[in-house]
Amino acid sequence: NADQAMYAVKNAGRKNFRFYSRALHDAIHTRLRMIRHLRKALEENQFVLYYQPIVSLKTGHLTRMEALVRWHHPVQGLISPDAFIPLAEDTGLIVPIGNWIAKEAITQLAYWRQKYNPELKMAINLSPVQLRSQEFEDIPWIHDLQSKGLNGEAVTIEITEGLLLNSETRVNHNLKMIHQIGIQIAIDDFGTGYSSLAYLRKFNIDFLKIDRSFVEDLKGVGFELCTAIIAMAHSLGLGVIAEGVETEEQEKLLTELECDYMQGYLYSKPLPADEIEKLLVLPYIR
Ligand code: C2E
Ligand code: MG
Ligand code: MG
Ligand code: MG
Repeated sequence: NADQAMYAVKNAGRKNFRFYSRALHDAIHTRLRMIRHLRKALEENQFVLYYQPIVSLKTGHLTRMEALVRWHHPVQGLISPDAFIPLAEDTGLIVPIGNWIAKEAITQLAYWRQKYNPELKMAINLSPVQLRSQEFEDIPWIHDLQSKGLNGEAVTIEITEGLLLNSETRVNHNLKMIHQIGIQIAIDDFGTGYSSLAYLRKFNIDFLKIDRSFVEDLKGVGFELCTAIIAMAHSLGLGVIAEGVETEEQEKLLTELECDYMQGYLYSKPLPADEIEKLLVLPYIR
């Protein structure tokens, strides 16, 4: 694929000039084709949202959903976000794609709220590129919220620590706007990036999502890390969501640590809207 080819390019060195130019040619070609396909995907509505439940530990209720995008490629089938979001970011296509994702997730939330649970909340992942873009200043999907009769509290955005590192003017402004309309902010993959913890207060962060790698390692040093993250979050008044909970044992340990919410295969994999609905009719899912 393109990444491997680029890697080959970097490692080819001067001696292998012919290989170099060939690999470079291929890499560029693959990349351009992929960009073309991405554009077309947007026009032809090939993106789909999957949803994964987030469970309250205290009540066992499914109180939140996270929207996770996939690309339904006509030839290659279902493509995971890790395989196309980086390219969408590089090309700026993440901005219109991200707007589509937010609209779709909001529409779905409005439907589920009136049908199953008027208090359900939706988490939407936002790329740093979106928050750095000028277009974001008026929050392109705010009218979608309003026209569905939802207020900002219905939505949480998930961002990563790196975005907050350099205190960029536009990012600060956009996050302030987000907060002003009541949208909550979660830090995704918390603990894996470079962060000065001061930003947690400065940006009025609402939730930390403990990265899956720490949950996976709860029998090792992950236990101490989870303990520290949860204690710190609570002392700052933030909620904590554990990602990637796969076993009853992890659930038990996280319960003892008084984690607030759980998300992971133990409850459900991300599923298309119509398949996740069967969980929304249940009074609780753990
Ligand atoms: P993320 O936001 O941290 O999402 C969590 C990822 O972990 C998801 O992968 C989810 O399917 C996976 N996961 C959840 N529970 C478990 C578990 O118990 N075990 C394991 N092994 N994995 C679990 P996915 O859907 O492939 O998404 C990967 C990443 O792509 C996301 O990480 C997020 O950073 C990005 N992404 C996904 N959807 C969007 C989107 O709509 N917009 C943007 N900008 N990024 C997105
Ligand atoms: Mg996320
Ligand atoms: Mg995450
Ligand atoms: Mg992640």
